[in-house]
Amino acid sequence: MPAEKLPTRATDFSDWYNQVVLAAELADYAPVRGCMVVRPYGWALWENIQAALDRRFKATGHVNAAFPVLIPMSLMEKEKEHVEGFSPELAVVTIGGGERLEEPLVVRPTSETIVGYMYSKWIKSYRDLPLLINQWGSAVRWELRTKLFLRTLEFYWQEGHTAHTTSEEAQEETRRMLDVYTDFAINEAAVPVVPGKKSESEKFTGAVSSYTIEAMMGDTRALQAGTSHFLGQNFARAFDIQYLDANNQLQYAWTTSWGLSTRFVGAIIMTHGDDQGLVLPPRLAPIQVVIVPIYRSEQEKSVVLPVVERVKSELGEFRVHVDGREEVTPGFKFNDWELRGVPLRIEIGPKDVENENLAFARRDLPGREGKTFVPVSRASARVRETLAGIQSTMFERALAFREDNTWMPEDYEGLREAVRDGWALVWWCGDQECEARIKDDTRATIRCIPFEQPGGTGKCIVCEGIATEKVYIARAY
Ligand SMILES: [Zn+2]
Repeated sequence: MPAEKLPTRATDFSDWYNQVVLAAELADYAPVRGCMVVRPYGWALWENIQAALDRRFKATGHVNAAFPVLIPMSLMEKEKEHVEGFSPELAVVTIGGGERLEEPLVVRPTSETIVGYMYSKWIKSYRDLPLLINQWGSAVRWELRTKLFLRTLEFYWQEGHTAHTTSEEAQEETRRMLDVYTDFAINEAAVPVVPGKKSESEKFTGAVSSYTIEAMMGDTRALQAGTSHFLGQNFARAFDIQYLDANNQLQYAWTTSWGLSTRFVGAIIMTHGDDQGLVLPPRLAPIQVVIVPIYRSEQEKSVVLPVVERVKSELGEFRVHVDGREEVTPGFKFNDWELRGVPLRIEIGPKDVENENLAFARRDLPGREGKTFVPVSRASARVRETLAGIQSTMFERALAFREDNTWMPEDYEGLREAVRDGWALVWWCGDQECEARIKDDTRATIRCIPFEQPGGTGKCIVCEGIATEKVYIARAY
C-alpha cells in the first residue's frame, strides 16, 4: 500500500496503527479471531528484541529452558488468586487423540504453576538456589478485545522464573530484572519508560508486589511494556517448593517471575511512528540501511551498480539491504522504505558516482533536513555516526513528547482534564477507594508509583488526605 493512503495519526491513531502494521508487513490477521501471524519483517524485529534481552539475561546469570504449553487444570487451581485471575481467559483442552481427557488441560496463560511444580522436584537444598531460569515461548489468553501485537489470543514472550533462599534476594532479583527491561527499552528501543511499582489493585494475580515499565505512546496513552513480580512464598507454599537450609531446617523458597512480550513491538510502533509509517530504532531495525540505486539507462546502470556493490561490502558490519527492484521507480522505493521505518536510506545515482558522494536520507528527519552528502570513502564511519545520531534523536524526541504531555494538576478537576489527553503525576494517599473513583470518573488508572519520588508529603488528589507518594495516572492500552 502506498504511504499516502495511510490515515494520519491525528485523525485516527488506532486506524493508523492497524494500517501501518499491515502495510509494513509486520503482522496479519489469522483465521482464528484475535490471533495474529507475525510476518518475517515483524519477526526479524522481534528476533532483535530477543537477542538484546537474552544477552542481558545471560549476563545476569540466567539460563534458558522450555516448559510444556499444556498444564493440568489441577495445577492451575493450586494457587487460588492466580486461577481466579486467569480463569476467564483460559483456553482448555478437553479432547486429545479423539478421547475425552480424564483431566482437562490448560493452554498456558503463563507458566508459574508448571514451573512451580517442577521447581518443587528440583529444589532440595539451599545449594540448589538461586535457580534462575528463563523461557522463550508463547502463551494464550482468551482476550475479547484484541489488537495486533498489543493484545492477541496467543502472544510471544519470555518469562523468567526464579527461586531464592531469602525474601531480600528475591526482591533484589525482581528489581534487577525491571532494571534490565528499563535499560533495554531506553538503550535499544529508544523508548523512554517510567519504572515503578503497581498499586495493589493493578498487580499480577498471585504476586506480593508487581513492578512495571510504563511508556507513553504517540496518542499520549500509556502502555505497560514489561513487568516483574515478587511472588513472596505464595507459589512456593502452593507447590511445596521447599529446601533444607544450612541448619538442615526445611524452608519455603521465595520466587519471582518477569516477562516482556511482542506487545513491545506495538510500543516501538506507537512511540516512534509518524504519518509516513514506521520509524525503527537503528539498534533493533531488521534493516538499518537501505541502498537505492538510481539510473535511467543501461549505461547509467553500469556506472552505478559497481559502486552500490562496493558500498554494500564496505558496510558489512551493518544490516544493509540493496533495493534492486527493476519494476518500481526510486520514488516508490523511497516511500516503501519510509513506511517500513528503515533508519537510513542511501541513494546512489550517476551524479553521486561522478562526485564520489553518497546521498544520505534519515528516516527520523523527513525532507531536506535529513539529507546530507557523504564522501564514498567515509561511508562506514558516517553510517555509524548517523545511526547513533538517529538512535539518540529518537529517544530525546520521545522523552520530550512525554514531558510535554505530562501534567501536575493541583486538584481533582485538573486531574480529569489532564488525563483526557496526557499523563498526570499527582499525590495519592494509597487508598483503594480514591483509586477506584479516578477509574470510574475518567477511565484512567494508576499506571505506577514511580521509584523517583519528590520526597515530602502532599494532599491526595482525590480525598485531600495526607499522601507520601506521587503516582502516574493515565488512560492505558
Ligand atoms: Zn485519597
